[in-house]
Amino acid sequence: MHIRVLGSGAGGGFPQWNCNCPNCSGVRAGLIRATPRTQSSIADPGTLSRGQLARGPDRPVRLRHPRGGGADLYRRAPEERGTPYSPHRHNTVPGDNIGVRVRDERTHGTLFYAPGLGRVDDEVLAYMQEADCLLVDGTLWSDDELIRSGIGDKPGSAMGHLDQSGRGGIMEHLGRLTRPRKILIHINNTNPILDEDSPERHALEAAGIEVAYDGMTIEL
Ligand code: ZN
Repeated sequence: MHIRVLGSGAGGGFPQWNCNCPNCSGVRAGLIRATPRTQSSIADPGTLSRGQLARGPDRPVRLRHPRGGGADLYRRAPEERGTPYSPHRHNTVPGDNIGVRVRDERTHGTLFYAPGLGRVDDEVLAYMQEADCLLVDGTLWSDDELIRSGIGDKPGSAMGHLDQSGRGGIMEHLGRLTRPRKILIHINNTNPILDEDSPERHALEAAGIEVAYDGMTIEL
């Protein structure tokens, strides 16, 4: 199975139309080495090309960032299993974070897709350990990033997004895993890793962590 990253940015995309943070203004002006991105979503192009899209919404075609109003999730059984890890685990409500495990029944390759990862508990960790590829929350480099950039008044942790660089953050969790390919997705436009020449991006590369881009293809 080939998974195609249709979009790798956070909700506002990159650059975000109403944002003049150093990243957004820098990419517009060509001052930084960075690639524009649309909102986080993935698809199985093989599924699409087989025409299953036309059969209706019970057919799985597309996994968009499944958080917040307007987001949607189409499920395909049996390869995919939703793994909600919110307090409403058995009674999900709009706004909950969920993760999705995608498994190719033929190759047994598995992908764990979690564009909003607020906490890595034992259950989530088990999914991450057994996956061949992780496509996980790359929203923020630091927890107070939105506050420091004057864009928001909430830390990432209050919005269901673990930061990458902090104690107990995404990099620390990923550093303990040896099996999966590690890719960040849902990158917010304020995140310094979008600048391919930044020390933060180099730190990710040194840790063996990739950054998803629109059009990226992942083979499972
Ligand atoms: Zn911006």
